Amino acid sequence: MFKPRRLWSQLWGLQGMYLCFFLHSQATGSSYPNHGHIPIGTLFNMDAEPVSRSALMYAISTNNELRKGGKGITFNMLSDDVDIDSNFAVTSKLCAQMSSGIFVMYGSTSQSTFKTLQAYSAKFNMPFITPDLSGTIHKEHQPQMLFAKPVYADAIVDLVKGLNWRRLDYVYDNSEGLLRVQHVYDRLKREQYGIEIGFRRIEQVESAHEDLRRLDYLDREKMRNIVLDLSSLNAYAALLRQIPEVGMNRHGYNYILGTLDMLSLDVSRFLHGGVKVYGFQLVDVSRRQVQTFLEEWQELEPGIWPGAGTNLLQTDAALSVDMLHTIRAALTAMIKEQRDVFHYVFRRGKMYNMNKTIGIQCNSNPPLPWMHGEQIYRALKQVDFDGLTGHIQFDEFGQRANYSLDIITAGLDTGLAKIGKWHSRYGLLDNDQDLPVDPIYPQQNYTEWRKVVTTILEPPFLMLRGNVEEDGSPLIGNGRYEGYAKDLAMEIEKRLDIDYILDPVTDGEYGREVENGSWTGMIGQLVSGKADLAIGPLTITAARERVVDFTKPFMDIGISIMTLKPERQKAGLFSFMEPFSLSLWVSIVIAYVTISLTIFIVSRFSPYEMKEHAPYLDHFRYNFTLCNSFWFAMGALMLQGSDLCPRSIAGRIIGGVWWFFVLIIISSYTANLAAFLTVERMLQPVQSADDLVKQAEISYGILETGATRVFFEESNVTTYKMMWSYMSSASPPVMVSSLQQGVHRVQNSGGKYVFLLESSTNEYINNRLPCNTVKVGPNLNLEGFGIATPHGSDLKESVNYVTLKLKEDGTLHKMKQTWWEEKGECGVDTGNKESKKRSLSLNNVAGVFLLLIAGLVVAIGTGLIEAHYIKTQYLKYVSTLDSRCLQHEYSNGNGILNKYIQS
Ligand code: GLU
Repeated sequence: MFKPRRLWSQLWGLQGMYLCFFLHSQATGSSYPNHGHIPIGTLFNMDAEPVSRSALMYAISTNNELRKGGKGITFNMLSDDVDIDSNFAVTSKLCAQMSSGIFVMYGSTSQSTFKTLQAYSAKFNMPFITPDLSGTIHKEHQPQMLFAKPVYADAIVDLVKGLNWRRLDYVYDNSEGLLRVQHVYDRLKREQYGIEIGFRRIEQVESAHEDLRRLDYLDREKMRNIVLDLSSLNAYAALLRQIPEVGMNRHGYNYILGTLDMLSLDVSRFLHGGVKVYGFQLVDVSRRQVQTFLEEWQELEPGIWPGAGTNLLQTDAALSVDMLHTIRAALTAMIKEQRDVFHYVFRRGKMYNMNKTIGIQCNSNPPLPWMHGEQIYRALKQVDFDGLTGHIQFDEFGQRANYSLDIITAGLDTGLAKIGKWHSRYGLLDNDQDLPVDPIYPQQNYTEWRKVVTTILEPPFLMLRGNVEEDGSPLIGNGRYEGYAKDLAMEIEKRLDIDYILDPVTDGEYGREVENGSWTGMIGQLVSGKADLAIGPLTITAARERVVDFTKPFMDIGISIMTLKPERQKAGLFSFMEPFSLSLWVSIVIAYVTISLTIFIVSRFSPYEMKEHAPYLDHFRYNFTLCNSFWFAMGALMLQGSDLCPRSIAGRIIGGVWWFFVLIIISSYTANLAAFLTVERMLQPVQSADDLVKQAEISYGILETGATRVFFEESNVTTYKMMWSYMSSASPPVMVSSLQQGVHRVQNSGGKYVFLLESSTNEYINNRLPCNTVKVGPNLNLEGFGIATPHGSDLKESVNYVTLKLKEDGTLHKMKQTWWEEKGECGVDTGNKESKKRSLSLNNVAGVFLLLIAGLVVAIGTGLIEAHYIKTQYLKYVSTLDSRCLQHEYSNGNGILNKYIQS
């Protein structure tokens, strides 16, 4: 069976192969020039953990996801795993990637291959960003090279001086470490700081017991200060495991770890022996950007995204993300300056260089350098923004500038604690010391980082989309959500040209003030500075307006009533009986019988009704026999009449009133019949808030935290006051903790619970399966949903303007239709309006047909009985007559028969 998820993981498994990702197709309608994905080349050390690559791919995926609407640059990534110490491997992969076309290179380097890579980059003007070798390269012009990682050698020097160490052993495990120790030594010497330094190289960090013991035996009595400068986190982990094993975690030992990931190391065995350990932490997890990133990163599956799934962000991963943003910032700046700068680069899906070759060819003669390389490199060096690894800025030599590191210590008295900061310009700073305002590095007006949009998972404003895209790639970032709020955020961010990340509130609340004066929900996120915007079904209220700014409403709503939809009355066999109640039918039958009997009796005593004396019969005959009387009344009732007519005054009076009675009854029946048969009626016991107050049988409630509660709590209208006093004291409680809960209660309470909620949600739910709820009556008030920003936010004006624009140009209307009507599941005619069914179906009148059939059957039966009975009677009669009489009667034809029947 095809499993997209597995396919994706298998793709990941293709380590070391030439891998090309085209993440999402290029959207059109961009405010950017219509180019393809910007290709980036990458080389990763095949021996290192794939965290950097994973993070870079994640950054590219989220970037492309964000720009699906075509509002910025999207990337694709060419990637190779190589032996980073092999000049041949590195250059051949670099050339292969350049020849298929790349804008920038991001990759690992080592001491042994750096010169070669640099020579190629310089020759072909290919900007090369590397996270390696920082601090080991001389501060001089390094054409096309950009060093992503901050240098910590100076931080070590300042810390050594700050701790007043006069002797230290510098332990390292590769040539990079040696270069750094030289730098440390040179600087201390230059500054004439009196210190004795011993150098120790450890060849095998995994089995370093011997080396460590030798170190331990030197000057056993003295205080021992050791700087560990190792090549990887694994090397630190290995050495930190062995140090306690040889007893070097005892009192008198002090360590400085030359790492930027102090918090990722396990130093638990150094917390008790009286030893002190210092180290640096570059990624500050308390910063909002890092937290926002981590919220998603720790939810990713490590099987798919190596290194993810934890709440620790390693420097290498953070650097990858920051460097992608650096590239984006540089290219964005170039495009802003000259809109069509890359106009001639993309043709027929290929990247051209100098209009001549596809890609940048290593073997072109003479060499054709990358036409935009120089310009891109310059732009890269000019970026200035806050990233995951702190402030991102480069000096003229392509090295990080203006950054800071946290200083972390682990020890008996402190535990694991941050004791201060080291800043590349200002050196050591205490925890509470603010950075001096820097006149040399004015912050540019360009902020590259994404805005955090707080929102709430509330259909149809925001809903989760599932796990994977249609193509099997995992859903990440904003791609995990869909809904009106996401579309609105997209529109706003597109028009303002800023990035955003959706961050649904974890407490599931909209925003209310709690006892200590703080706020919950979306409002809380804004007030505490954790979010820049709140986009969702957030009602504008006076209390909220005090602590945040709202835009003009993007949706007008009101509190409304949701009830269970009453069962439609099904057309039954005897629907034609419905126009009259049972008692009326019975009364009509009684009237019919009474009239028939009365007319019979009256006629019996009236001489007018006496018939002519029939020959051969010795008694009087009357027209209105009992049977005829019933027939006469029936004929009138059915508007058919009969050939009988009362001749007596009394009979005529009775006939008259009966006809009048029938006239009225039949007209009423006819008038009602159409309505009853063509409209399916629905009985709705509650139609308004007043109906609710007046009754005690049906309970009603609201969301316990939200604007609706505030409305009832603060209302001065008697009805609403009464409703609030009922709802706030009802037992069992009638208020619910989520809208879904309220809706379920309506659906499952058999009409005994009514929910008061905002009309937007009410209408949406009524249009969703199982389609058994309905909005009744008018809205109780008028409110609006607004977009909120923290007080004083520079986004306020622009977001307000965009909201109005979206309203005016019909975008909001269209979006509402999309999410409320087009996605509806109950068909068009679902409201509380009466069904518009116009034509009668057989169902409506089937009973009449049945009656007809029954009548026919009875008639045929009766006919048969009559025929049989009359024949025998007739034969009997004939035999009793004398022959004369018989002849006479024969000559009179059927007369006898008639008379006989009448008698
Ligand atoms: N939209 C409301 C608010 O912003 C929540 C829903 C309700 O109270 O009915 O608080």
